[in-house]
Amino acid sequence: MSRRQVLRLIPPLLAAAHALVPPTASLDAASLAAPPAPRKPPPAPSKPLPSVFSLPAPSLRASLVSAAQSMNASGLNHGTAGNLSARHGDGFLITPSGVPYATMGGGDVAAVDLRGESSYYGGLPPSSEWRFHRDVYLNFPEAGAIVHTHSPYASALSCVSGGIPPFHYYVALFGGKCVPRAAYATFGSQELSDNIVAALREHGVCACLMGNHGVVVVAASVEKALALAGEVENLARMLSIARGFGEVQVMSDEEMEVVLAKVKTYGKKDVDLGCMCEFDRKHRIVPPPRGDA
Ligand SMILES: [Zn+2]
Repeated sequence: MSRRQVLRLIPPLLAAAHALVPPTASLDAASLAAPPAPRKPPPAPSKPLPSVFSLPAPSLRASLVSAAQSMNASGLNHGTAGNLSARHGDGFLITPSGVPYATMGGGDVAAVDLRGESSYYGGLPPSSEWRFHRDVYLNFPEAGAIVHTHSPYASALSCVSGGIPPFHYYVALFGGKCVPRAAYATFGSQELSDNIVAALREHGVCACLMGNHGVVVVAASVEKALALAGEVENLARMLSIARGFGEVQVMSDEEMEVVLAKVKTYGKKDVDLGCMCEFDRKHRIVPPPRGDA
């Protein structure tokens, strides 16, 4: 199917997709969204914002915009696909739906409340994938940021079964023995969100492929999530090349346990090793002795 034919299909698809309804708009966001026939009168302008969303968080907004722009410039994403978010107080900031990253400003970023009805505040309506961002933050308290891309190799790999197996030790960067593939569901749907949360939880990882779609990476910060999204793409590219050479050899469960123990000690000092289990200490990364001590 040509790109023009695909584009022609999009309007009817959008009209039918109930899942694309953004979370409840509030205050200035409601006026920006300009719904044709609001069922309720707009809230009084004097209604105060919840305290956490009255904070403009300019640096966090700027880092989301900057990361979104570099995501496209580096080839990890294309056009208006993909999205990014960062936890902020009792909610999260997220890139808006369908806005070119090159022209996006910090004020376009929406704030979504993790409480109640997931209302959004300010900016433009959030990405159509706001549901899985919300559910990842609700299910994984350690999640500080989420990056979703349509990076080409990883997205192509999401269209076949199996995810990214332990064919290279960098798979352990994501906390488990593979980068799993979440089962396919319609974009923006609650089912897709449920599938992503299930894949992350079942495999104890911070990244997964989304069936026939793309990639999700969860990390402590936007910068780390973006860097890990690059690692997923690189692994997918290496796997694609390896499969062209022949049957791919994967590492055993036992070897991946050792690799995971080593990865835990990346950048750690000896003083940090006390809280580790015996297995992890045994397999830690051991540098040569310091010559200037
Ligand atoms: Zn997507």
